[in-house]
Amino acid sequence: MTTTISAYAATSTTGPLSKTTIERREVGPHDVAFDIKFAGICHSDIHTVKGEWGKPNFPVVPGHEIAGVVTAVGSEVTKYKVGDHVGVGCFVDSCRECDNCHAGLQQYCTGTGMVGTYNAIDRDGTPTQGGYSTAIVVDENYVLRIPDSIPLDKAAPLLCAGITLFSPLRHWNAGPGKKVAVIGLGGLGHMGVKLAHAMGAHVTVLSQSLKKMEDGLRLGADEYYATADSDTFKKLAGKFDLIINTVSANLDMGLYLNLLAVDGTLVELGIPEHPMPIPVFPLASGRRSLSGSMIGGIPETQEMLDFCAEHDVTPEIEVIEASYINEAYERVLASDVRYRFVIDTSTI
Ligand code: NAP
Ligand code: ZN
Ligand code: ZN
Repeated sequence: MTTTISAYAATSTTGPLSKTTIERREVGPHDVAFDIKFAGICHSDIHTVKGEWGKPNFPVVPGHEIAGVVTAVGSEVTKYKVGDHVGVGCFVDSCRECDNCHAGLQQYCTGTGMVGTYNAIDRDGTPTQGGYSTAIVVDENYVLRIPDSIPLDKAAPLLCAGITLFSPLRHWNAGPGKKVAVIGLGGLGHMGVKLAHAMGAHVTVLSQSLKKMEDGLRLGADEYYATADSDTFKKLAGKFDLIINTVSANLDMGLYLNLLAVDGTLVELGIPEHPMPIPVFPLASGRRSLSGSMIGGIPETQEMLDFCAEHDVTPEIEVIEASYINEAYERVLASDVRYRFVIDTSTI
């Protein structure tokens, strides 16, 4: 027997999200059911419902930064019990058999591909629906444990924004002696500043303006520059070992590649709607690399949550009622977010 719950869904690429009901599956032997308490709003939710990444499978209940409390577990579940604080990020399943799944890199599953938390098709053939809702049922192997010291509202954004920054910062060895730049001080970017700072790197923010400079320095940045000022690109030429681009729109990539030191790497995290031209001179003239990274696997996401608890790293959030979701979307699009909107799902 399925359970009917409340949710906020998009039903077209142009209309607002509105209140509806959806079904959650019966708790299977390996499933964890939990009451969702908070769900973050990621810019990916907006790209998806606006159809910027392809035609959505409407109705879509977005939300892949999900935190809550376990209400039931299946008969075979060993990792969680009723009352535990848990979370779910961007995927709820994968093939479980390919090399990447075995290596804990489920986000790069080459079998079925990762099964997205929303706008995807689940193992049982039904469409997945995300966290802008009051409850969810997920296989225990795709559920994360939220450390007690992290409040659930602040834990939610870690499940996407947190891991999306943690993974490349670790992979490219951000730490003492490394100069890291973060482009864009939004949901992802502000987690990048906090995490890179906690890892001991020298952190520079490259934002469109100096409007949020005071915040950036408070969050852990050592330096802060406006990209609207062309002097920035002269001053910082050849400076960084690692540049993390979190911008949701196209940038003039040549300008930013020139800021890398020899052998430096620019990692694309932002996934804009349209392709970006890549000028080759700035790559070749410094033996520089251009790469990308997508969220993180289950083991690394757990490692990130534990790291955040240990180092007291949590996002800056604005908790909103569900009725504010459409306005929040407009504010994210206007870069007017400080620094993650989190829905109190008890208001759905
Ligand atoms: P966000 O909160 O909207 O932050 C993006 C920031 O980029 C803005 O705050 C703004 O920072 C800057 N920006 C926006 N438009 C710009 C423009 N036209 N030119 C220059 N800078 C601009 O979004 P988010 O939730 O952090 O997500 C950012 C991107 O990452 C999205 O494309 C999202 O889909 C993607 N994403 C990727 C992954 C992954 O696994 N790779 C995971 C999650 C999200 P300033 O005001 O400081 O300039
Ligand atoms: Zn996301
Ligand atoms: Zn796989």
